[in-house]
Parts: sequence; C-alpha cells; structure tokens
Amino acid sequence: MQNFDFYNPTKILFGEGKIETITEEIPDDAKVLMTYGGGSIKRNGIYEQVTEALVDFEVVEFGGIPPNPEYEVLLEALDVIKDENIDFILAVGGGSVIDGTKFLSAAALYDGNEPWELLSDPIRVEEGLPFGTVLTLPATASEMNSGAVVSREETKEKLAMGGPGLFPKFSVLDPTAVRTIPERQLANGITDAFTHVLEQYMTYPAGGHLQDRFAESIMQTLIELAPKIMEDPSDYEAASNFMWSCTMALNGLIQKGVPTDWAVHAMGHELTALYGIDHARTLAIIAPRHYEENFGHKKEKLAQYGERVWNITEGDTDTKATKAIEKTESFFHSLNIDTKLSDYTDDYEGTAQIIAERFKERGWTGLGEHKELGPDQVKTIVEKSY
Ligand code: NAP
Ligand code: FE
Repeated sequence: MQNFDFYNPTKILFGEGKIETITEEIPDDAKVLMTYGGGSIKRNGIYEQVTEALVDFEVVEFGGIPPNPEYEVLLEALDVIKDENIDFILAVGGGSVIDGTKFLSAAALYDGNEPWELLSDPIRVEEGLPFGTVLTLPATASEMNSGAVVSREETKEKLAMGGPGLFPKFSVLDPTAVRTIPERQLANGITDAFTHVLEQYMTYPAGGHLQDRFAESIMQTLIELAPKIMEDPSDYEAASNFMWSCTMALNGLIQKGVPTDWAVHAMGHELTALYGIDHARTLAIIAPRHYEENFGHKKEKLAQYGERVWNITEGDTDTKATKAIEKTESFFHSLNIDTKLSDYTDDYEGTAQIIAERFKERGWTGLGEHKELGPDQVKTIVEKSY
C-alpha cells in the first residue's frame, strides 16, 4: 500500500426528516444564499422543507443552475453573493448544483483576474466561503468530497477544480428524495457511482486489500440494488443503500493508498462539453473501450473484479478479464444506457482527433495510473467508442 493522508471533514446527516436539523449546522447570524436547479425541488416538497427549516435565517435564493453547471449562470450567482454580502451557501440539488456551489464558494474569495482561472489553471482552493448541501440525487458524491466540475458553453469546455477548502460543512442525505427522480437520472446515478469505483480500482494490482474489498462491495451493492431502484425508487431501504453507496464511492476513502486512473472521466467530460451528453453516459461510452485498450496492465485487476463482483469462475486471467469488460457493458445496457457515441450524435466523425488535440494543448499527455496514457491512445479509445 502507498503512504497517504486522509482528511474528510464533511458532517453527514443521514435519513428521513434530517432536513430540519440543518438549523443547528448553520451559524445563527449567517445570511444564507440557497442555490438550486431547474425546479425539481419545488415539485417534490424539498423546497418547502428547506425554507421551513431556514425560517429564522435571512435567506436569498438563486435558482436555475442547469445540469453541467454553466459558468455564465454561476457568474450571476457570484454577483448576488457579493451584492448581498452572503456568508453561507446552502446547495439544494444534485451534483450540478453542489459543484456550482463549490465554484461559488471558491470564487467568492478569489482575487485573481477572472474566476475561470480556478478551472483553467487549475488553482488548488485552500479556503472557500462556507457551504452545506441538501442532496437530492445520489450519483456524484460531490456532497462529501472537495472536487467540482464546471462547464463553459462559450468555449465548449468542461473542467475540474477543487482543494481542501471545498468540502461541504455538512450534507443532508435524505433517501426519500430519491422517490421523484426520473428513470434516466436514476440510471445515470448508478452508472456514475459505479464508474467512480472503477476509476479507483481498475489499475495494476497495488496491494490495497481492504480498498479492493471496499470497492468491490460498493459495486456489488449497486448491482444488487439497480433493478430495485429502477423499479421502485420509493423503496426506502433500496434508496438509502443506493444513496450511501454513491457517497462512499467518491468520498476519498477507497482511493487512499492505491493508484487511481480517472482517464475515463477526462475523456467523458469532453463528450459532455462537445455534445451535451449526460455525464454518466459519457463514462459508459468510454469505460469499456478504455479497459480493452489498457488490457495489458489492467487484466489482473479486471480478472479479480470478474471473479469477485461478477462470479466469473471459468477460464484463465485473459478470459476472465475479457468477460468482466463484457459484463460491465451489459450492466450499463441493463440500465438502458447506450455505450456507443453514435447512439447519441450523428456528428461524431473527428471527435477523437479534437479530444486528442485538446489534451495535447492542455499538456495532458500522461493520464491514467501510470501517467503515460497519451493523446494517441486517447484518440484510439475515443475512435473505438464511435
Ligand atoms: P444533476 O445534473 O445535478 O441533475 C440532473 C437532473 O436531475 C436535473 O434536471 C435535476 O432537476 C434532476 N433532479 C435532481 N434531483 C431530483 C429529484 N430528487 N427529483 C427529480 N429530479 C431531480 O445530476 P448529477 O448526476 O447529480 O450531477 C452531474 C454533474 O456532476 C455533472 O456536471 C458531472 O460532471 C458532475 N460530477 C461531479 C463529481 C464530483 O465529485 N464533484 C463527480 C462526478 C460528476 P433540477 O435541476 O430541476 O433540480
Ligand atoms: Fe463522475
């Protein structure tokens, strides 16, 4: 196992009815900006629960943060924070609202030329304006990590940022929020969380026995729960395990002491930036082809995953590893997630070249756990995903 530091200060308030307890977590005299998305919280009762809880606070609202939080919209919210002298932000939503809020937390204290530098440089954020979250969509684990991804329509970019100053102070995980999530977003949530685990697990073997078991147990739980959640998102037991699995998939724990990959996310982000494809679906397009292309140094782990997660017992390492990739792709299909770029856009010719060029320009020439996945390989992987 490699040396590591583990730090995660986010307080989790888990369970039905926990929204009302946020009053104990926000400083009494805080002027609060409540951020949210396109309005789902106004249709499922979460908006009422939050505003009732905040009745003794001075609250300003900023709604309309779109999926794949858009820079231009966030700049409007940043003006509100400055004009209104906001000192605490409460994000109520999924990964997009929470990521957008993390950007705001950092940008509120940033005194450089342009807040986009937080993403383009990127700048490690040591301190942000304090914020908490009420999670409405299990998927990203943004509620318990310090990373964020922000999109910019003008330049068709989608970039990541983060730093130890961007952990939420608290996050409410109330599984009853899952009841109103549409099928498409449930499938996205399962797929995103599953791929987060893969990105931290599917490397060369690194002697992280406990981390492997953590990762495998999260994937097994997601596989077991997927049909139940898709069939009945109001099943509280299934929803609560789904929610906690997604959080555990990317709160830092399973990646400690082991190498991580993250090339699938790097390539996937470009597909969202170029074509607006849902984040999780871009991962399902890239992941199978990425594992095939990097079979050489990943096959032992692929075979272990095949044995332990998919019960593949027959055959040698290569056979098990190959079957494990097939099983993964079938799992995405079972969620009605298509795994070819051409299923999403007719305009895919040249995509691989564009992405490879972008990575070269940004100096992203060594991705993956060996830091040696270069633009040529990226081009091959994206081409194979057409
Ligand atoms: P999302 O973009 O936050 O939300 C997707 C849709 O689900 C929205 O239209 C939203 O509607 C709706 N929704 C949310 N909660 C709902 C509920 N309880 N009932 C009904 N509808 C609901 O989805 P996400 O998958 O959580 O976030 C995706 C973003 O997170 C991407 O930008 C991705 O790159 C990023 N991400 C971040 C991390 C990280 O670690 N920070 C990791 C992976 C991905 P409303 O807008 O109307 O609320
Ligand atoms: Fe993700």
